[in-house]
Formats: sequence, C-alpha cells, structure tokens
Amino acid sequence: MIIGKISKNEKKVKFTEKIICTNCSKQVPGGLQTGESYYQTEQFKKELENFKKSYLCGICRDKKRQEN
Ligand SMILES: [Zn+2]
Repeated sequence: MIIGKISKNEKKVKFTEKIICTNCSKQVPGGLQTGESYYQTEQFKKELENFKKSYLCGICRDKKRQEN
C-alpha cells in the first residue's frame, strides 16, 4: 500500500507498520511505501496515524459496502 506522496522519479521507502482493523481487530500485514522526502515528516506521521485510525480489513470493507 502507498500512503503520502511519491514524486516522479523519487526513491520509495518501504516500511512495515502494525495495522489493525478498526472494526474486527484483526492484524493485517502492514507493508507500506512512501516517498523518501515525505517519510518521517510531521505530515507523514499525521497521515499514518489517520490511516491506522480508519483502517478496515478487506472483509470488513466488503461488509460495509454490502450494507450501504
Ligand atoms: Zn476487519
């Protein structure tokens, strides 16, 4: 998964985060990528936090789609 910004021709940083589904608490493999200049900036940290706060695994996302 890619979060944040990656500019054209920019090096990507790969990192792993512990990501837990906010609905069923299942842990998912958190292999993430972002641009080198964006990684570890304040904005990056905020975005990562928001991403984790609202994360739904594939199953819960499908369920939610069916409900709507
Ligand atoms: Zn889930």
